[in-house]
Amino acid sequence: MFSRVARPSLAICSSARKFSSSSQNNAKVAVLGASGGIGQPLSLLLKNSHRLTHLSLYDVMHTPGVAADLSHISTKAKVTGHLGEEQLADAVKDADLVLIPAGVPRKPGMTRDDLFNTNAGIVRDLCSVTAEVCPNAILGIITNPVNSTVPIAEEVYKKKNAFNENRINIFGVTTLDVVRANTFVAELKGLDVDKINVPVIGGHSGVTIIPLLSQATPAVAFPQEDRTRLTERIQNAGTEVVEAKAGAGSATLSMAFAAARFAYKFLDALNGADNKVECAYIRSTETPAAYFATPLLLGKNGVEKNLGIPKTIEYEAELIEKAMPELQANIKKGIDFMSQ
Ligand code: NAD
Repeated sequence: MFSRVARPSLAICSSARKFSSSSQNNAKVAVLGASGGIGQPLSLLLKNSHRLTHLSLYDVMHTPGVAADLSHISTKAKVTGHLGEEQLADAVKDADLVLIPAGVPRKPGMTRDDLFNTNAGIVRDLCSVTAEVCPNAILGIITNPVNSTVPIAEEVYKKKNAFNENRINIFGVTTLDVVRANTFVAELKGLDVDKINVPVIGGHSGVTIIPLLSQATPAVAFPQEDRTRLTERIQNAGTEVVEAKAGAGSATLSMAFAAARFAYKFLDALNGADNKVECAYIRSTETPAAYFATPLLLGKNGVEKNLGIPKTIEYEAELIEKAMPELQANIKKGIDFMSQ
């Protein structure tokens, strides 16, 4: 059983970032996979934010058009489009935050792990360039299978001597699981969704998605039968969308919303805002799995402190136990891919 214990805060290498407290709202954010189903609405949400001065769009197709279109929007961020491998380094140069939704999405009947063969190589190749050009940038990896692509990214950074064991800057974006949990709880309980927060820990596929409904704020009570049903709905919510889209892809609009929320939280924290907490999938010593999502306190350097696994009830502790084999196998698959 895993329960909450006091943990030392993560040591941070303060010299690692160029983003200083005086650099209010002047971030460069790069989106890799910017022409896709997630990339386009995410780029729109970022262009609409006062937090950016430069929005850099990279893809292997269509970026000149997407960039031209977004550049006519009357907000302050400059938009640049970068097309094809030879323009990738320029796209990520001086980036504070790099969001990666590049890769193929699921079709009905597929698991996220079925995407591994295509997406593992895409993430490896993109991260090879970010490791060289902007090794200190915060990386938010959206590309599935997130449970494996984040370990792949860290292995790339190790190979490129860009890995900093005292600082975490590579994150699996699991925010959509939190967004879904908040939405479903609000609907069920008739609450204001803006005021709900359900921590979701673990990984980002099936049983590795672990919503801690017992730790929701404000507190909500469920008979166990309802708790089980809601937990399973949150775990399978991605598949709900894949099936409804009937072959036309997976969650894109809700994912863009979630990735924008992730980006805004990080950018606000980098700019000195207090009390920014977000769950994300990172390397971790909280469980036997080498990567695990938990609530993180964000700050000027990225993660100020891993807040660890919140208190759990027995049912949730069992979910954590049940997630371990799949999560550890997914992580191993990513690491093995990089050792070939
Ligand atoms: P999509 O096919 O609509 O878009 C993917 C984009 O990536 C395309 O524009 C494509 O040209 C681009 N691309 C492919 N190879 C590339 C490369 N080497 N470099 C740069 N760009 C490249 O797919 P989508 O619906 O936007 O989904 C993207 C990824 O996000 C998928 O892997 C999907 O499973 C994942 N996803 C993650 C979550 C999450 O919660 N983390 C949620 C939904 C989807």
